[in-house]
Amino acid sequence: FLKGKSAIVTGSTSGIGLAYAKALAAEGASVMINGFGDAAAIETERAALEATTGAKALYDAADMSKPDQIAAMVARAAQELGGVDILISNAGIQHVAPIDEFPIEKWDAILAINLSSTFHLMRAAIPLMKARNWGRIITTASAHSLVASPNKAAYVAAKHGIAGLTKTAALEVATHGITVNCISPGYVWTPLVENQIPDTMKTRGLTREQVINDVLLDAQPTKQFVQPEQVAALALFLCRDDAAAITGANYSMDGGWTAA
Ligand code: NAD
Repeated sequence: FLKGKSAIVTGSTSGIGLAYAKALAAEGASVMINGFGDAAAIETERAALEATTGAKALYDAADMSKPDQIAAMVARAAQELGGVDILISNAGIQHVAPIDEFPIEKWDAILAINLSSTFHLMRAAIPLMKARNWGRIITTASAHSLVASPNKAAYVAAKHGIAGLTKTAALEVATHGITVNCISPGYVWTPLVENQIPDTMKTRGLTREQVINDVLLDAQPTKQFVQPEQVAALALFLCRDDAAAITGANYSMDGGWTAA
């Protein structure tokens, strides 16, 4: 149902972003993927997406902490994919430490990548969407857009910020056929989650099994990790015309975490 539409998905060389890109491509959208990683592995993913969609799949290496690179990526998508109908702002990083030991450069990087990049993406893409009177903007927030956990000051602040930015954008573009929503997953089994296990082991003095069962899944009543494909399926629904009335929403997909 997305034939003829063009999408940018940031942070899509891995995890949830890659699942979004695959889901959009499977529905026929042309997709620009973005993120870091091994060049050969990224090229394999890009080629696989193109094979799926039959439309174009491009890779752009823009660093989401660099506003000029973000603007250039959006301009490139407009040029080479013919527009930006769907924008999924998803790139994100994490650092776990108490506030009084939190490295200042980690705070700055998390705010830039997890929050400000979405502003810069919206700023560049909204005019393109307005011109067509159609658009879908989806941000990957987090259960941490609604509740906090200790030792994640920058992440929780950035994700609460994403929730507010999403609502503001939704109001601004409401009469232009553009919807803006966020999806707030609980713990999804991706490299981001896996990579924070060692830090949590260190700061809390726990084993790997204790971190998984007593810290990560402690908050998730289902005791199951969310799967990236489940998050992508919700994003696809938000791209449908059936979802045209859904805007400014923050959808939890957290195994019941924020119900507690
Ligand atoms: P991931 O580590 O698997 O993927 C992150 C992606 O972002 C990668 O493609 C990486 O290369 C990219 N990236 C990192 N820094 C970047 C930068 N400066 N510029 C461009 N790209 C950059 O993580 P994930 O779990 O798939 O997370 C994706 C999003 O989902 C993040 O915003 C994260 O906060 C959010 N999220 C994840 C979970 C979870 O449990 N995994 C839960 C809630 C929200």
